[in-house]
Amino acid sequence: MNELERQLHYPLGDTLPAPGRTVEVAPGVHWVRMALPFALDHINLWLLRDELDGRTGWTVVDCCISRDEAKAQWEQLFASAFEGLPLLRVIVTHMHPDHIGLAGWLCERWSTPAQPCRLWMSAADYHLARIGSAGSNGFGGDAAALFFAAHGLRDPVSMAKIRERASYYPTLVPTVPRQYRRLMDGDVLTIGGRSWRCISGYGHAPEHIALHCAELRLLIGGDMMLPRISTNVSVFEMEPEANPLRLFLRSIDRFLELPADTLTLPSHGKPFTGLHTRVAQLHAHHQARLAEVLQACRSAPRSAADILPILFPRPLDLHQTTFAMGEAIAHLHALWFDGQLQRLQDDDGVLRFRAPALS
Ligand SMILES: [Zn+2]
Repeated sequence: MNELERQLHYPLGDTLPAPGRTVEVAPGVHWVRMALPFALDHINLWLLRDELDGRTGWTVVDCCISRDEAKAQWEQLFASAFEGLPLLRVIVTHMHPDHIGLAGWLCERWSTPAQPCRLWMSAADYHLARIGSAGSNGFGGDAAALFFAAHGLRDPVSMAKIRERASYYPTLVPTVPRQYRRLMDGDVLTIGGRSWRCISGYGHAPEHIALHCAELRLLIGGDMMLPRISTNVSVFEMEPEANPLRLFLRSIDRFLELPADTLTLPSHGKPFTGLHTRVAQLHAHHQARLAEVLQACRSAPRSAADILPILFPRPLDLHQTTFAMGEAIAHLHALWFDGQLQRLQDDDGVLRFRAPALS
C-alpha cells in the first residue's frame, strides 16, 4: 500500500469475492470480481437485488469482456448467487470493453419475447460502442497509427502493431444490443426499492455514468473514481483536439457534493471510503504531471512521444504505450487550451508543444 492509499480506508479489509461468488457490501448490493487478461488484471461488477415491472430479480452493473472464462463465471453466478431469479436489466457505466463486453450476451440470454432484459447506458457511450463493435469502422488501425505518428511515435514495430489492432474492440465486444434505454445525468433509477441517481462524468469515456444511492451512502464509481491507479484520461484519433483532462477534473469535483463517508465501489481495486481525499489526490497528481510537462516544454519544443519518459519512467509494453501516448497528449492539451503552451507542426509533420521562455 503506498502513501496515498494509506489516506483512504478499506472497510472490507482484504476481502475479495472468489471467482463465481459474491460478497454483499450493502443490503442487496453484491460485489463480483472477474479476471482480465491484461496488466489491469480484474474488474469489479455489481449485482443488485431488484424489482422491475412487477418481477423480482437482479440488475447488474457492468459485464466483463467477452471470453469463455467470463461466461463460465457468469454461469456459476446464475446457478449459485441468483437464487433462481432472472437478470432483469444490464446497466453499463461506459463503453470500454471490460464494462460492456458481455452486455449483448447477457441481454440476449435473459430476454424473453414478453420481457426484454434491457441494456441501460448513456447515449454517447452506446453509439460509440455500436461503432466500435461493427469492426471495420472501429478504433485503432491505420488512423490511430497516423495519429500517434503525428505526435512523434515513429518506431516502426509499434506502428505496425497499432495498425494490426483494428480488430481489438470487436474481439472483446462482439455484440452490442440493437436497442437500449438511455441514461442521463440526474436520472433517478429505482433499484431494489431505493433511489439511485446517475452522475455523468467526462474525460475517461464519452459519457460515463456513476450511480449514487444516498440512502445506502454508496457510490458505484465505475472508472471515474479508483482508489489506487489514476483513471486513464486520453486523447484519441476520433477527436484529435480534445481536452479530456479538464473534463475529468471538473467531473470528479461533482463527487465532492456527496457525503464524505460515502462508500465508493470502484471498477478496479477495493471498495473504499475517503472520496473527498481521493478527489484531492487526483487533482494533486495531475497538477504535478502538468508542472513536469510544462517544465520540459520550456527547454525545447516537445512532442507527446518526447514526454512519455517524463510521465512514465518505467518501460511500457505496446498496450501501455498507446494508453500512455493518449495520456501524454491529454496533459499537453490541457496546457495548450490553458494558453500555457503553443502547438506547432514542424517540417517533419510532428506536432510539438512549446512554452514561452520565462523572462
Ligand atoms: Zn474505462
